[in-house]
Amino acid sequence: MRPLIAGNWKMHGLAAQLGEIRSLAASIKVSPPGADILICPPATLIGRAVQAADGMIAIGGQDCHSDACGAHTGDVSAPMLRDDGASAVIVGHSERRKAYGETDEKVAAKASAAHQAGLMAVICVGELQAMRDSHDALSFCAAQIRASVPPYLTGADCAIAYEPLWAIGGDQAARPEDIVGMHAHIRQTLLRHLGASGASVRILYGGSVTAANASQILGLPEVGGVLVGRESLASASFEAIIAAARGPSTPT
Ligand code: PEP
Repeated sequence: MRPLIAGNWKMHGLAAQLGEIRSLAASIKVSPPGADILICPPATLIGRAVQAADGMIAIGGQDCHSDACGAHTGDVSAPMLRDDGASAVIVGHSERRKAYGETDEKVAAKASAAHQAGLMAVICVGELQAMRDSHDALSFCAAQIRASVPPYLTGADCAIAYEPLWAIGGDQAARPEDIVGMHAHIRQTLLRHLGASGASVRILYGGSVTAANASQILGLPEVGGVLVGRESLASASFEAIIAAARGPSTPT
């Protein structure tokens, strides 16, 4: 399975930062990665990011409304993202679940809207520290998947991002054994929920991914890529993570 290396810029980025995308696109052109690359800038930059990416990097949104249009001041719909050149959208990020009270049902409606608009949905799940401490993390994330992932999606339409909330924005990623255990459980959940197409869905890990830990994380079983926050903002650090997906370079 070709890995997906996705960057979430969150609420960072003015036109001046499009140079990061330009420079990443130029380097990908010279040295193609063995991975699909996606950057999700703020909605204001999507159209210009598509231009800057020059066909080398997929551009996505960070959220979409579940309706195609309507009286929803300030919201952006999936067809609008598609119209601006996006090919994917993140839905159910923990920051949105927390700040806007987004339920699993809402996330499923957004994923469905993304699908209808022809966008790949990167559907986020993840547990709080207290759930991990009480050994409820696996069952919590499985329940999130069952309720957040429309049952007709396939690996071509969606990816799952496992982002333990306690590892996001910190200085420590989850331990390899915790990632392996969770990703295996997510795969089993996807197979039960989606049938055979559950086998083709990429399961990304997110939470304090850096150039230093990316290679190890990407080498773990059932890790089909990473979702990167802070380290995706600068092309140099994001490129170092992308290089990890290529594996160790062979001496010439
Ligand atoms: C995120 O919020 O999706 C994330 C993974 O952030 P960071 O990489 O900065 O921990």
